[in-house]
Amino acid sequence: MSLADKLAEERRARLAAERLLELKQAELSAANRKLGRHALALTKQIGQTQAEVATVRVENAKVKSDLHTANEKIETAERRLWHSIQAFQDGFAFFDTDSNLIGANTAYLNIFDGLEEVAPGISYMRILQLLTDEGLINTGDMAADSWRAMMNERWLSPSPEPVVIQLWDERYLRLIDQRGHDGDMVTLALDITSTVRYEEELRAARARAEAANRAKSAFLANMSHEIRTPMNGVVGMAELLCDTVLDEEQRLYASTIKNSGEALLVIINDVLDYSKIEADKLELHPEPFDLERSLHEVVMLLQPTARDKGLALLVDYDLFLPTRFTGDPGRIRQVLTNLAGNAVKFTKEGHVTLRVTGITSPDDKQCAVHVNIEDTGIGIPEEKIGHIFGEFNQVEDERNRQFEGTGLGLAISKRLIEMMGGEIWVDSEEGKGSCFGFRLPLPVEAGPEAAVPALPSTLRHVLLVDDLPLNREILQKHLLMLGIQVTAAGTAAAALGAMQESIDLVISGHNLPVLDGVQLARDLKSGRWSDVPVLLLNSSPQAANDPEIRRLVNGVLQNPVPRDELFSQLSKLAGAGKPAAAQTAPGPDPAPAAAAIPLAAPPEPPAPPAAPEARRMRVLAAEDNKTNQLVFRKMVKELDIELKFASNGLEAVDAYRSFAPDLIFMDISMPKMDGKVATAEIRKIEAGTGRHVPVVALTAHAMAGDSEGILAAGLDHYLTKPLRKALIHEKIRDSAPPGTRPLEPGSPPAAQAAGG
Ligand code: ADP
Repeated sequence: MSLADKLAEERRARLAAERLLELKQAELSAANRKLGRHALALTKQIGQTQAEVATVRVENAKVKSDLHTANEKIETAERRLWHSIQAFQDGFAFFDTDSNLIGANTAYLNIFDGLEEVAPGISYMRILQLLTDEGLINTGDMAADSWRAMMNERWLSPSPEPVVIQLWDERYLRLIDQRGHDGDMVTLALDITSTVRYEEELRAARARAEAANRAKSAFLANMSHEIRTPMNGVVGMAELLCDTVLDEEQRLYASTIKNSGEALLVIINDVLDYSKIEADKLELHPEPFDLERSLHEVVMLLQPTARDKGLALLVDYDLFLPTRFTGDPGRIRQVLTNLAGNAVKFTKEGHVTLRVTGITSPDDKQCAVHVNIEDTGIGIPEEKIGHIFGEFNQVEDERNRQFEGTGLGLAISKRLIEMMGGEIWVDSEEGKGSCFGFRLPLPVEAGPEAAVPALPSTLRHVLLVDDLPLNREILQKHLLMLGIQVTAAGTAAAALGAMQESIDLVISGHNLPVLDGVQLARDLKSGRWSDVPVLLLNSSPQAANDPEIRRLVNGVLQNPVPRDELFSQLSKLAGAGKPAAAQTAPGPDPAPAAAAIPLAAPPEPPAPPAAPEARRMRVLAAEDNKTNQLVFRKMVKELDIELKFASNGLEAVDAYRSFAPDLIFMDISMPKMDGKVATAEIRKIEAGTGRHVPVVALTAHAMAGDSEGILAAGLDHYLTKPLRKALIHEKIRDSAPPGTRPLEPGSPPAAQAAGG
């Protein structure tokens, strides 16, 4: 190889080496650049991390300081809380889930009277044990272990009821234990000693006040009862005095004594009732009764006053309502008498209407009876309405002051209605009238309802004459229900104009304007309608005794007419047929209130003279009060009877044996043996002998509602004091046995059998 070649080759090698070097240098610088970039990024990252670390450090310091503050606050709060708990007068403690004491305030620990064992860690059961063992607690009638068992059971319940315990020093604590979510228990022991003492004092004071009130009411009831007895004497004697020969002035004095005495008795009855209600002595005596009949009895009682004032007294008893219910008839009558009596008292003109409707339950066993008493009287000012059911409350104004009263009637009525489970209310417009109403839930008495009579076809068309539209309306409803066609007329002249062949009967009011009902009957009898029977509606029973009226009309119905009475009169008349409709046979009175007076009965055959040897009827009167005995004696003095008195129940039973009375009048309250016991004794003696002497109870308090007790004791009837001569005579007459001497000289001898 030439040199040149060698040189060329060497150059080529050098060039290649140089190129490789260049390449490697380029690679190195690229790597260097990359490294530099990476180092830069790293440096940045380190810078960032360092900043973050710095922030975290700051934050850490803040958290630390916050934690410190919070801890301080918690400590302060805890300290305050504990101070407060310590400051409590009442005990406070808390227990862990295992019922071990965690902590308690001094008041709580004091309960244990310095027992060192009572400290954090002690169990609740042990605390109970210490309470009983150390005599720290008064467990009353309970044995210590039963008490602990009771307390432990309570403690373990999820939410224990508060309990009151009494400590040895007579303090009372109410324990209130509250379980927390985590099962811890917080206990409060409240000292309620002063509250308990106060309650005890209040209870004692209340008991004293109630006893005093009861004593007052009992005293009032006693007083009223005691006043009644001499008052009965006064009224009875005054009535007898009125029956003697007196000049006008003397009669005025005697009747004033009688009327004032009766008024006083009404007041005394009110006071007696009210004090009985107050003293919780008033009892209800439910029994089956006829509401419609009770209503008519009340109306009968008020009729004379209403008639004197020229008021129409009407009864509108819902045709589809049952009439027989179970309730206390005496008390219901008392409420009706009070409400209807007020209505009559406070009404000068117009009418008083007693309306009865009701809603019967689907099974027909129960009925909500509504009674409304409407009047067209003075009414009650709006601002007074709220007070009148209160005690001794009367509307105080000029118009009202002229009326007498105790202001107790409505208060008693309200209490009675409420006792019977009902309610009472009033609507009134001053100057226009009032409407008092009450609602009573009453069981319906199953049994014979006043059956609608099947009238013979002879009675198809009635001419109804009355000037009072309301009265016509009520009667018309009844007649329409019987399927009778009704033509109504407001005056006698209109009635005469309306007469026609088809009319089978005329029912006319008595006091019609211009021509009255009697004149209408006269005109009918004297003309072509002489064979049409006439029934006269009257508010006074006297009309039935007037021979002129008896001749002209076929019957007098006392208005308002009880439905059954109207029905029975109609069937009698219809049965007789036209024209011989003139008889209505005398029959036993279906009820005291039955108002029709059958007329034109054939004259009684002359009574056969009594055998001269006939004995007198024997009447025994058991009555302890000498004045009342005298009153009784005088009341029956014109009757030819043999009268014997007994001064108490024992004497009455003896006299029953020795005297064999035909009738006994029995006072109920008598010394030694009362009337009920005496009657029960007599009934025992009679048992199996077939004898049954009628016994009429004489009760002290009208409407005492004691009829059930009286009748249950074996008495047959009862009369309320003050005694009424007419009623006494009636009872004697009803019980006169056959064959005894006539009661009144000239009257026929008794033909009726004595009955119970
Ligand atoms: P008394 O009738 O004995 O005064 P009540 O308690 O029965 O007592 O009645 C209280 C008062 O209510 C009556 O005094 C009267 O002012 C008023 N009052 C009651 N019923 C009526 C009535 N139907 N019309 C007007 N006022 C009446």
